[in-house]
Amino acid sequence: MKINALVAHAATSPLSPDHIVLRPLQQQDVTIEVLYCGVCHSDLHMARNEWAVSRYPLVPGHEIVGRVTDVGNQVSRFVPGDIVGVGVMVDACRECHFCQNQEEQYCEKGFTPTYNGVDKYTGESTWGGYAQQVIVDQDFVVSVPDNLPLAGVAPLLCAGVTVWSPLRHFGVKAGDKVGVVGLGGLGHMAVKLASALGAEVTLFTTSPQKGADAKRLGAKQVVVSHDVEQMAACQTSLDLIIDCVAASHDLDPYLATLKTNGRLVLVGIPETPHTSPAITPMVFRRLSISGSSIGSIKETQEMLDFCGQHGITSDIELLSGENIESAFSRMLSGDVKYRFVIDMHATRWSR
Ligand code: NAP
Ligand code: ZN
Ligand code: ZN
Repeated sequence: MKINALVAHAATSPLSPDHIVLRPLQQQDVTIEVLYCGVCHSDLHMARNEWAVSRYPLVPGHEIVGRVTDVGNQVSRFVPGDIVGVGVMVDACRECHFCQNQEEQYCEKGFTPTYNGVDKYTGESTWGGYAQQVIVDQDFVVSVPDNLPLAGVAPLLCAGVTVWSPLRHFGVKAGDKVGVVGLGGLGHMAVKLASALGAEVTLFTTSPQKGADAKRLGAKQVVVSHDVEQMAACQTSLDLIIDCVAASHDLDPYLATLKTNGRLVLVGIPETPHTSPAITPMVFRRLSISGSSIGSIKETQEMLDFCGQHGITSDIELLSGENIESAFSRMLSGDVKYRFVIDMHATRWSR
């Protein structure tokens, strides 16, 4: 099936409308008309080949909300008309320890990413959600609660679950003191979700003007990270920090704000590594640094259901697809409130 999409043809050229061909509908597949697709910083990293793994042509987009329009003859979980979501994964080996334990994001053979992966049926690239349609195996499709505004749901499929997974995995509970570094797409969802779990949230930001928003989103305290006095005032106060920054930076000032036994969870994936942390405080205060990759399909559904119960969606700015490059530019300068979402129906596809 030939459809319209926003295509990156090279690391240095802007995304532009073009045609792509989706795989034929398989027995387990669901065809989804994309209604909204969030713009993740990973899309920008990948469009520009900042992780040196991009293959072109490339169609980004892994925060997809849409309507089912067709199903294969073995699909049991969805029917045409259902409103569904697709995140960062569209397949995995399904056999390894992690797949068997419903942690496909850590599949030993590597999960199949929604875009820039290899489609097991065609051997060609997987295509993301900056497109009119996607075709996805039903096991990698989730149900969207019916009480939430759909454009604000799209960013939950990556940004939401990427911060939800470590919050749950590391057992954050009511009363815990949680730090969030960076008020962007991931960071603002971390503030919302951690505070909805009952944690007391401290937001670290390089942008003092975001302070009022952070408090509105649920942060109890806002700390400007380049203000030495503000940083000193919150030393050894936090149980866990989620670092959502998309650029390389010094981790030591954040480690200093952790209590003994505290944990810094890195979810941002900068183009160049962070400088190594100082070992002494890690040793003498038994600190941990962890990474965390997106979240499983099970966690994604749990997070969506939690958001449905608590009325949580992303704060978004809607755009039509032809404006994607200006959205990328604003994202690079940290100027997004707090996630761009492409309105696929508003997008003009003619070149
Ligand atoms: P984003 O919306 O651009 O937010 C990043 C935030 O980091 C900015 O809003 C800014 O917040 C802060 N920041 C401080 N200095 C920065 C700098 N020099 N450059 C960029 N940001 C800076 O990005 P996002 O979509 O939330 O993604 C954040 C990172 O997570 C990206 O690297 C992305 O690839 C990665 N990611 C990882 C996973 C995973 O599975 N682990 C999943 C999705 C995304 P302040 O203005 O408040 O300082
Ligand atoms: Zn993402
Ligand atoms: Zn596996």
